[in-house]
Amino acid sequence: MASPVGDAVTQARVPLMDLGRQHAGIRADLDAAVARILDSGNFILGDEVSQFETEVCAVLGARFAVGVASGTDALVLALRALEIGPGDEVIVPAFTFLATASAVRLVGATPVLVDVEASTFCIDPEAVERAISHRTRAVVPVHLFGLPADMGRLCEIASVHGLAIIEDNAQGIGATYGGQATGTLGDLGCLSFYPSKNLGALGDAGMVLTNGSELAAKLRMLRTHGWSTKYYPELLGQNSRLDALQAAILRVKLVRLAAWNDARRMRAERYRQALTDLPVTFQEEPTGRRSVYHLFTIQVDSRDEVAARLRHEGIETAVYYPYALHQVPTWEGGGSYPNSERLAATALSLPLFPEMGDDEQDRVVSALRAALVVS
Ligand SMILES: *Cc1c(COP(=O)(O)O)cnc(C)c1O
Repeated sequence: MASPVGDAVTQARVPLMDLGRQHAGIRADLDAAVARILDSGNFILGDEVSQFETEVCAVLGARFAVGVASGTDALVLALRALEIGPGDEVIVPAFTFLATASAVRLVGATPVLVDVEASTFCIDPEAVERAISHRTRAVVPVHLFGLPADMGRLCEIASVHGLAIIEDNAQGIGATYGGQATGTLGDLGCLSFYPSKNLGALGDAGMVLTNGSELAAKLRMLRTHGWSTKYYPELLGQNSRLDALQAAILRVKLVRLAAWNDARRMRAERYRQALTDLPVTFQEEPTGRRSVYHLFTIQVDSRDEVAARLRHEGIETAVYYPYALHQVPTWEGGGSYPNSERLAATALSLPLFPEMGDDEQDRVVSALRAALVVS
C-alpha cells in the first residue's frame, strides 16, 4: 500500500494570509494593550489615539495624521476637506478596490475612470492627463498591492493643471517612492487599518495624512461633528473617530511594521526567482519604488482553472479584483479599459504573509509549476 506521507491531502493548508500566527507572536503585548484601555476608561480618541497619530507621523515622515473610523471614511473626509462635491470630477483608476470610486460618489462628485498601466497595475499618468476637464479637481492614485504609483509624473501633471492629489494608500503603508513614504507625497494620504492590511486593527480603522496644517485642522473637525469647540460646529461634520482600543492595538503592531514589510519583500523576491521561467506576468517594481507587497499578484491565463488546481493541493489563492470598476452594476459610465479588464480576468494573488515559511512557499511554487505545465 502506498504511504500517505507526502500526499497533498495529508498536508496542512497554505493560507493566503494568517493573522492567527501574527497575533500569537505578539499576544502578550496585545493583551496588555487591551487591559490598559479597559483600565483607562477612555475609549474614543484621547491620548492613545494622539500618540498613535504622532508615531505614524514619525515612521512615515508626515506632519499631521488624523485617525478616523475606516479607510473608506479617510477617502471621504479627504475629499470633504478639499471641498470636493457636486459638479466636480475626480480621476480614479478603473482597477482598484471599489471604495476608491464610491468615496467620490459619496461626496456627490463624479468619478472619472482611467486605465492602469499593464506593467505596474497602477494608474497610468498619461491616461490621467487625457481625462482632465475643466471640472477636474483631484486625482486619486492607488498604490495597488503595495506598489507606489508613478507619483513623480502624477505630481507634475497635478501641478500643471492645478489639481489636488489624494493618495489611496490603504495597501501601501511603509512603501516608498524616491525614498519618501507613500501617503506623504500628495496633498492628502489615506490609510486603512482593516484587519488584513499590512498594519491591521482588530476591527475597522483608518487615517488621513497631510502636511497642511489647515487641512489637518479641518479633518479633525470633520471627524467629530464639525466642531473644535464642543457643541459649536463650524462645518457639517460626521462621526468618524478612531477608537482608543484600536489605536492601542495598532501601536503594538506599528513597531513591527518595518520588519513585517521586509519579510514580505523577501518572500516576493523569492517568488520572482522561483517562478521566472513560468508563463506568468509579475507586477513590475520600477527603479526608485519600493513595494510593501500587500499582495503578491501575478497575471496568468486560465486563471480560474489554475486557482482550482492550487486549491486541490491545499493552497489558498484569491482574486483581487474579479471586476474592473466599469464592469459592476453600480457603474453607469461605460468605457473601455483594456489593461484593467485583462487584470480582472487574469489576476491571481498567491499566499504571502510575514510569518510564511520556506516550506509553505516551496509548496505554492511546485503546485503552480505543476498546474501550468499540465493545464
Ligand atoms: C481596503 C481599501 C480601502 C478601504 O478601506 P476600509 O478600511 O476597508 O474602509 C480603500 N481603498 C483600497 C485600495 C483598499 O484596499
